[in-house]
Amino acid sequence: MKTVTILPGDGIGPEVVSATLRVLEALDIGLSFEIHDFGEAVGGVLPETVLESIRRNKVALKGPTMTPSGGGYTSVNVRLRQELELYANVRPFASMPNVRTRWSDVPLDLIVVRENTEGEYAVKEEKREGRVVATFEFTNKGCSRIAEFTFKYADRLGRKKVCVSHKANIIKLSHGMFRDAAYKAAQKYPHIACTDLIIDNYGMQLVRNPSQFDVMLHTNLFGDIFSDVCAGLVHGSLGFASGANIGDEYAVFEAVHGTAPDIAGKGVANPAALMLSSVLMLEHLGMKDAALSVRNGIMKTLEDGIVTKDVDRAAGVTTNEWTNAVITRM
Ligand code: ATP
Repeated sequence: MKTVTILPGDGIGPEVVSATLRVLEALDIGLSFEIHDFGEAVGGVLPETVLESIRRNKVALKGPTMTPSGGGYTSVNVRLRQELELYANVRPFASMPNVRTRWSDVPLDLIVVRENTEGEYAVKEEKREGRVVATFEFTNKGCSRIAEFTFKYADRLGRKKVCVSHKANIIKLSHGMFRDAAYKAAQKYPHIACTDLIIDNYGMQLVRNPSQFDVMLHTNLFGDIFSDVCAGLVHGSLGFASGANIGDEYAVFEAVHGTAPDIAGKGVANPAALMLSSVLMLEHLGMKDAALSVRNGIMKTLEDGIVTKDVDRAAGVTTNEWTNAVITRM
């Protein structure tokens, strides 16, 4: 029996987590769950019990957590990723049936890989007489391992292109090191094309013609921003954007979206993003049939025109109704 650590989190977290657990339980494949309080319920700290549980089970499925901006505590997500060395953040963005966006007529299938443990988010800020001095760190090890991970992952999925984005024309040494690590890793994969784009040009190219991209490798900050851009381009909502945080030993699966306080507690959140994250988790665990079953349930539900309110405000169904529809189609 495989045990998974479950972290419901804040806002819509408990709603989408319980919807996803219903789907996983319906698979009846002997998964068991160890549920831990996380986020505001434990004062925004990263409890040792949570770390112990993930270290023991190796795999976790988590809801979003609240992070105060400006002041308050450091993001618990950032600490979790650093503590467990979950250095690769993988976010697939593929067009969904019956989800209309500006790009619905062009089938899109993009993968964002984001460096997750250093770069602009390993930041130290210091107040000094009317100034704030911020320093961040890129390491050789960090740049190499994310670049190698990206090509290995692209190769495993039969992908043909990797584009690395950066701002090496201005932030020359650190972003230059990040870009160069990608070209170095690419040498082992001559069948995968490696290109690079300066981030401002990349942003313009992405919104003008997203189908030119395949796998995109980003620094921590750019990956955070461009994941949401891809969600908007490909899905028109954050409700379908799934993700995996992967390290050499542990993996934590979570949706791209945040706590969505505007809809929390109303029973209308789209649970697809976390359900699709659980598909990534099942694939990671080698449970391919189970992964396919959940993915098929989600796709058939959408093909049948059953959507949540983020997709169709008037005709959209509730979180529970949508989950029932997925379970009957798995
Ligand atoms: P946080 O501070 O936790 O990041 P946020 O509201 O700033 O929260 P998101 O939670 O990512 O950012 O939400 C952005 C918008 O997308 C909100 O209007 C929210 O309602 C919507 N949204 C996010 N996730 C979902 C979802 N799963 N289903 C429906 N709408 C969603």
